[in-house]
Amino acid sequence: MAAKDFYQVLGVPDSASQDDIKKAYRRLAKQYHPDANPNNPKAAERFKEISEAHGTLSDSQKRKQYDQMRRYGAFDGMPRRSQRAGASRGGRAEPGDMGEPGFDFGDLGGLGDIFSSIFGRGRREEARGGDTLEAVVEVPFRVAMLGGKVPVTLPVTETCATCKGSGGAPGATWSTCPECQGRGTISFGQGNFAVNRPCPQCRGRGRIPSERCPTCRGAGEIRTERRVNITVPSATETGDRVLLRGQGQSNGQGTPPGDLVITFQVQPDRFFRREGLDIVADIPINVAQAALGTRVRVRTLDGKKVLLRIPPGTQSGRRFRIKGQGLEKNGRRGDQLVGVQVTVPDELTPEQQELMKKFADSAGLKY
Ligand SMILES: [Zn+2]
Ligand SMILES: [Zn+2]
Repeated sequence: MAAKDFYQVLGVPDSASQDDIKKAYRRLAKQYHPDANPNNPKAAERFKEISEAHGTLSDSQKRKQYDQMRRYGAFDGMPRRSQRAGASRGGRAEPGDMGEPGFDFGDLGGLGDIFSSIFGRGRREEARGGDTLEAVVEVPFRVAMLGGKVPVTLPVTETCATCKGSGGAPGATWSTCPECQGRGTISFGQGNFAVNRPCPQCRGRGRIPSERCPTCRGAGEIRTERRVNITVPSATETGDRVLLRGQGQSNGQGTPPGDLVITFQVQPDRFFRREGLDIVADIPINVAQAALGTRVRVRTLDGKKVLLRIPPGTQSGRRFRIKGQGLEKNGRRGDQLVGVQVTVPDELTPEQQELMKKFADSAGLKY
């Protein structure tokens, strides 16, 4: 199980300043705070991840340790030379940049338990070669209800085109890595604790080029972004997921790319909300209109306006049904429900006050 990449959780580059990290944290924490997302376990989980990522990255000592672990690929389970010639998944390990062996994993305890759901480097699908990429995508209410497309920017790691993943400059000669003597892994640790990690100098390849690839600085891969248009089915709810085969991470090496798993998060609308297949909207009417009856124009989800007759004596909270203007799913179609909110004028003109008094007198009401 791979843990989340804290930088991706906060949506910041690994070169981000403490200020950038703080800003990203504040923005995301506000968005996913449980108070703002009652009864939304996805948001709660996201909030937890954001807090954990911030807890580590905002502390310079913890961040340093985390960066070291990240460089060593500690978040990707065991070294995997067999599949990938041991590329450094964690980032840009520079030759000689080995960190201190035996740093304290205990201080970052629990990191390995955080598993991925959002913009993490998710489950690795061995058979398919590439990584499954997961993303939470916010969808405007109308698009989620009626169906449509949303553009999404995905963080992806691609095989460097210049060196085709080798990490060497074109025409470079290769020699055995002096750090690992060609094994591709190094052991580090202390006491009875020792771990094998891909060699940071050769990135697990066992060989080093006479000159590093100028495009990827020897990593063999480059981090970039990919924009995709995601099709949103109609009647989509928060938490609904779609699997897009072959749209995930490419591992290079000629293996097919992994899958992309999208979890939708539906943004609330100011006017409409959803109840099952029905769409609910509240409209205010004046107390006089409620008593005497009226006609109101009501907007439907698809932008039409429907004339709704409000009968005399309508009480606040009463709902009227506009047939067939709800959501369609599996051959069933919902309605639009219009809830009437009776409002009382804030202020009356002297004339209106007189009329109101007359009304109260004739109804035997005290005031
Ligand atoms: Zn390259
Ligand atoms: Zn090496």
